Amino acid sequence: MSQPMSQSQNVSSAASNAATDNSATLRRASNDIGWEYGILVDPTNLDKIQCKLCGKIMSSGISRLKKHIAQIKGSVSSCPNASKEDIAKCKAAVEEGSKKKKDKLQAAKEIREEVTIIEEDDDEEVELVGTRKRPHTLGPMDKYVSDINPGKKMMGQQTISATFLKARTEKVDSFLARWVYEAGIPFHAIDNNSFAQFCEAVGQFGVGYQPPSQYKLREPLLKAEVERTKKCLKKQEQEWASTGCSIMTDAWSDRKRRSIMNLCVNCKEGTTFLSSKETSDESHTGEYIFNYVDKLFAPLVKVLRLVDGDRPSMGFVYGELQKAKQEIIEACMSKEAQYKPILDIIDTKSQGRLDSPLHLTAYLLNPFYFYKDQTIQNDSSIMEAVVECVERFYPEDVDAHDYIINKELLMYKNKVGMFGKIVAARGCEANNDNYDPGKLWLF
Ligand SMILES: [Zn+2]
Repeated sequence: MSQPMSQSQNVSSAASNAATDNSATLRRASNDIGWEYGILVDPTNLDKIQCKLCGKIMSSGISRLKKHIAQIKGSVSSCPNASKEDIAKCKAAVEEGSKKKKDKLQAAKEIREEVTIIEEDDDEEVELVGTRKRPHTLGPMDKYVSDINPGKKMMGQQTISATFLKARTEKVDSFLARWVYEAGIPFHAIDNNSFAQFCEAVGQFGVGYQPPSQYKLREPLLKAEVERTKKCLKKQEQEWASTGCSIMTDAWSDRKRRSIMNLCVNCKEGTTFLSSKETSDESHTGEYIFNYVDKLFAPLVKVLRLVDGDRPSMGFVYGELQKAKQEIIEACMSKEAQYKPILDIIDTKSQGRLDSPLHLTAYLLNPFYFYKDQTIQNDSSIMEAVVECVERFYPEDVDAHDYIINKELLMYKNKVGMFGKIVAARGCEANNDNYDPGKLWLF
């Protein structure tokens, strides 16, 4: 049986033989008959399957392969090497599969049909107050129409409706409770605004809402929710700027008993997660937590003090901001997952506020930074900012633009003339409260 066979021989036995062969172990753990005819080509893509009979590679799963063998036309070409037996086997499997699918749909329908939240004998009373026999469900038009004759409403309607509502609510409650118990949903999940909104949404949808599949929940819906959350965060960040915020830590252990510490920002709009750190080696003493937070935010606090302080700060803001970002990266031991969320926030916050053309120009024109690191001038965004500033200071004076950018700036770069003087030389050394780079430019 194991010796090579030509394709004209009994291919069916070749197929079932190959299924037990060690070379064909790359298959999905499934008892689907289709796997007798296919092997996985790529272990990372469970839908990429090669036909063992003809070698064709299909990329949309085992049901496509079965159709290929069964010669079912429509979505895939037919296998040229399938025997009558193979065709029959796969055809039966495909039909069985679609029957199962239909049965599943039917079962789901029947499960739904078991749900009525109105008892038979409710109907009479419902009719008494002029509502419909069937429970009233909102259709798409209901939002646009109102009762034709609202004056006709009887006095007793309100009390009767209240009784109905109570009875209906109890029925819906019992369905909800059963789901909570069977699925092991924690009880506190009920006190959740999203759940309240979900209930409202289903109610507004009316009869027949089809909940999403697990796949939809895992993939597209999750992605959409991440996007929505990001947008919400933008709103919160604006709140931090206008009313301030608190930085909080929250320590807990995961299921593997690792200690995790989360760093969060809290403001009026709510709490936002910033970063998390595994802290198994360290104890959660107040001192440790303080140091961690301090290490991350001390550089930033320096920048903020600079902006708020009395000292002329324009020449230092951008440079110190870059330095702060570098220090945060170092505090996070260059772990991108830790520092990136923080830097992202800093970037959003500083955009247009601390990195205006004026800030960038002041950064370049501050000898403290420039004479220390002349590569600053190679940064195109900085040079663009300089040009923009010059143009704004001397609108339409092309000669001035030319003079400043091509002559003065060059002298500055090369420490020519007064730039070479001691003020500037000293400026390269100290960034302390006595040093004001603006003085250099007051000649
Ligand atoms: Zn084939």
